[in-house]
Amino acid sequence: MGSQEKKRFIAANWKMHSKPSEALALAFELTDGLEDTNTEVVICAPFTHLDRLNSLKSKGIILGAQNCHFADKGAYTGEISATMLSDLGCQYVIIGHSERRNLDTAESIPLRIEQAIAAGLKVIFCCGEPLHYRKVHQEWEFVLSQLNHDFDKIEASHFPKIVIAYEPIWAIGTGLTASPQQAQEMHKNIRKWAENKFGILDAMQLRILYGGSVKASNSMELAAMHDIDGVLVGGASLIPIEFRGIIRAFS
Ligand code: PEP
Repeated sequence: MGSQEKKRFIAANWKMHSKPSEALALAFELTDGLEDTNTEVVICAPFTHLDRLNSLKSKGIILGAQNCHFADKGAYTGEISATMLSDLGCQYVIIGHSERRNLDTAESIPLRIEQAIAAGLKVIFCCGEPLHYRKVHQEWEFVLSQLNHDFDKIEASHFPKIVIAYEPIWAIGTGLTASPQQAQEMHKNIRKWAENKFGILDAMQLRILYGGSVKASNSMELAAMHDIDGVLVGGASLIPIEFRGIIRAFS
């Protein structure tokens, strides 16, 4: 990213919702009238929808996926490689979402990041603590251990291709949100960690997203925080009036 302008970043995570036949109309409705906002809007759709969403580019919307495999190709029945996603027009892929971390091994996360970057994709990397760690004030220690583990072998030249999403697990899909101050505190720690590991320029350019029950009604106060550069949105990314309100809050 270097000296490029750091645009605010709104990512939709549709998870396993909607049908391929409805996808394009939904994507257009979600962003209707907002094409000229100075934000980067990414829709991370299920694999089955991606081909049908290829024309989003013409509206300035970026296509993303929700996971990729840790190998480039091979005998992995039912899996999807980063190269396949790139060939379908994806620019981003989510790696390490807490709903995937329950299914994947921790060892596979750095490999998935490397595969994504090798295929020319950028990564929305997710981290965040379970409720227990927040209750005992160990939330930063938990997130730090994820960052240190998952970025241990990542080449410094790859770091500008990564967006980090802080998603406290207790706030995902629960209606609970971290307060803007709790999110800001964590984002500041993540930026400091990035500065120590990759240097001040990359840390300043890094987009750090908050995720966890973001809605139009709470996005203004999140957007006002210094280190919150955007949001990763699950449930509200399927509701046009909500998603448009979130984009507006970050514009
Ligand atoms: C997510 O899936 O990344 C997420 C944050 O979900 P929700 O907005 O529904 O909490």
